[in-house]
Amino acid sequence: MPAMPIELLGFELEEFRRLAQQWGEPAYRGSQLYHALYAEGRREFSRMTSLSRALRARLERDAAATWPQLARRYPSADGSIRYLLQLGDGKTIETVWMPEKNRQTLCLSTQAGCAVDCRFCATARLGLVRNLSAGEIVGQVLAVLADNRQRRRPRTNVVLMGQGEPLLNYEPTLKAVRLLADPQGMNIPLLRITLSTSGIIPGIRRLAREDRRPKLGVSLNATTDEQRTAIMPLNRKYPLGELFAACRAYPLRPRERLTFEYVLLGGFNDTPEDARRLARLTRGLRCKVNLIPWNPVPGLPYRAPADAALEPFQKILRRAGLLAFLRCSRGQDVSAACGQLASLTTPSPQPSPASAG
Ligand code: SF4
Repeated sequence: MPAMPIELLGFELEEFRRLAQQWGEPAYRGSQLYHALYAEGRREFSRMTSLSRALRARLERDAAATWPQLARRYPSADGSIRYLLQLGDGKTIETVWMPEKNRQTLCLSTQAGCAVDCRFCATARLGLVRNLSAGEIVGQVLAVLADNRQRRRPRTNVVLMGQGEPLLNYEPTLKAVRLLADPQGMNIPLLRITLSTSGIIPGIRRLAREDRRPKLGVSLNATTDEQRTAIMPLNRKYPLGELFAACRAYPLRPRERLTFEYVLLGGFNDTPEDARRLARLTRGLRCKVNLIPWNPVPGLPYRAPADAALEPFQKILRRAGLLAFLRCSRGQDVSAACGQLASLTTPSPQPSPASAG
């Protein structure tokens, strides 16, 4: 039986250089291949004309670089696009493209589905399907940037905030971050990449020890243990006191801030008293707070906050000296907004008309 092709997407530079040498090529051929895949965004070996003809033929025979397939696009009226992407084994995930004036933000999945079970989140209803590999995480960026080649902005921000809890898929996620941030490859600076966690404390402590790490976001959403446990059952295991102790011990680089995401649920966590508790909890931390009005998900027993509650909430935080932003939800009409990603349809794959290579 012929051997399975080696999957190269997700290899780091040193792995490419070693592979080249194992194949009897000089190591720099591995660097050229790395550059073609990640910096140039090529996926067809036959188009990698910087490589020798013989190496291209060997790659065609013995290797693969599998991008997630664009199964469906859901363009929103606000310019963002929710993508349903199909992985090599047929499982689906979602990625969201959000263009602004001079930059695009990509919201990536790190797992298919999620095991964490936040009660306000559509993804939670899928349960955990499986972890993604580093290649499947960076492949989302390659596929979505290629699909938007004509509309591409000069700068790219990445948030690891789609399906899944990144710190429960630690090594592949951190490997993907290193690949995204490598100046010789995809070249998205570390401080433009934010990993958002529901509060996995051992993962936060581990991340704190990494040399190359993204910015940290914490999905907070409540200000008492009772309230947080009601919407995020993992709070029983990782209660607020310990979570804030880990946040206070987290080493921040110059000009870096922690981000707390706070999804506002109407009548549940959006009162002035909640805002005052939030200000007390975060006192003395170099941080900012993103206030995210909840996006309705059919079948979930919550409601969006009243418009009239938003500004007073933000004002209380600002008066307490906090940087607090109200985040308008992008892509709400196509279920692309925060907490709405749940592979809402069965895919019918269509190849991308704009694939690189
Ligand atoms: S909010 Fe995030 S961590 Fe919580 S269930 Fe949804 S995807 Fe998982």
